Amino acid sequence: MTLLRSFDPEIADAIAGEIDRQADGIELIASENFVSLPVLEAMGSVMTNKYAEGYPGKRYYGGCEFVDDAERLARNRAKELFGSERANVQPHSGTQANMAVFFACCDPGDTVMGQSLTHGGHLSHGHPVNFSGRLYNVVQYEVHPETLRLDYDIIRDQAKQCKPKMIMTGASAYPRFIDFEAFRSIADEVGAMLVADIAHIAGMVAVGLHPDSIPYAHYTTTTTHKTLRGPRGGLILTDKANYKALQKNVFPGIQGGPLMHVIAAKAVALKEALQPEFKDYQQRILDNAKALAGYLIEEGFELVTGGTDNHLMLVDMRSKGLTGKDFEEALERAGITVNKNTIPFDPESPFVTSGVRVGTPAVTTRGFGDSEMKRIAEWFGRVAADHTNEDLAKKIKGEVKELCKNFPLYAELEV
Ligand SMILES: *Cc1c(COP(=O)(O)O)cnc(C)c1O
Repeated sequence: MTLLRSFDPEIADAIAGEIDRQADGIELIASENFVSLPVLEAMGSVMTNKYAEGYPGKRYYGGCEFVDDAERLARNRAKELFGSERANVQPHSGTQANMAVFFACCDPGDTVMGQSLTHGGHLSHGHPVNFSGRLYNVVQYEVHPETLRLDYDIIRDQAKQCKPKMIMTGASAYPRFIDFEAFRSIADEVGAMLVADIAHIAGMVAVGLHPDSIPYAHYTTTTTHKTLRGPRGGLILTDKANYKALQKNVFPGIQGGPLMHVIAAKAVALKEALQPEFKDYQQRILDNAKALAGYLIEEGFELVTGGTDNHLMLVDMRSKGLTGKDFEEALERAGITVNKNTIPFDPESPFVTSGVRVGTPAVTTRGFGDSEMKRIAEWFGRVAADHTNEDLAKKIKGEVKELCKNFPLYAELEV
């Protein structure tokens, strides 16, 4: 029995339930992953106790010797992994990373461009309910109405018209490569700063399996918990020239004390990402995404843009006469987790949607390969054909659990 279980059985039960849920189901949420035990260990360490406002060597508190070591290691590994001159590992989340960069690049009221949320962008790229949409004059760009891909000529024309001070690129639900070089030429033409938010694709960018942002963007922001497979948090990469503005806008600009236990865990995850096996892992994510896309098409599903270049795909559920909400709920009953997602030009509301987003990073971490992708597509097909059938869902849930037994997850953990 663990100390947690003996003191707080209610929370122990919640955590144990979550361990079982993760182990027994198929996780296809494109933004999720499973961290290693060393990453978990660092996150659950005494570094959570330490206040360390400031940066290594320049703190506002004493006793920072060891947290300084951890932060320096994290920074150096981030620079090495991405080939950037400078890194800031303190942002508490991807949104915080973006906020710091907004503050570094422009003043409230300035015009900025970002990809529309309903066309695959992120809340923090200028959505009206987010700080980014409330503080700035946001011009959103969309995908092309026919190709459903980014059209750099249209974006260039928009930029020339609105003359933004900053252009935000990057997406949460876009299945194709993003051309950061094209974005930089647009930014240069209008005198804007370019920010690349690679939250979803960071793992692939790091190993050269997605076009690089570092040579083109003034700032690259990312989360550390998606394809990078680290603890929940943010990271910002930049060059010498833009570093100073960045540093003061993270702290004291938008945050107080950094989460040193999470920074230690970021360092561990970055060390993992520097191993040769990490590139194989990213390649397997891509292979699985391609395979799953192909099998879904065989099952009669339609994919936005017809396929994928990265780790995710958007399934247009109108091809099965269903909404995203219906299908998400039906799959959940069958032990498979996805999220409903708007598709470009979606006639449904964001609470209903016409699509689901499906990603392969988490299942690839578990060791799933081609034959498991085929089974997932078959389950998708069976659920879509009879989505209200509870008996069918229960039957599939059993089959899913059976498959998952062959790919144990966190079997070592006891709560
Ligand atoms: C996930 C994501 C973020 C935000 O990350 P949080 O840690 O949830 O704040 C930012 N940008 C993009 C493109 C994302 O996909």
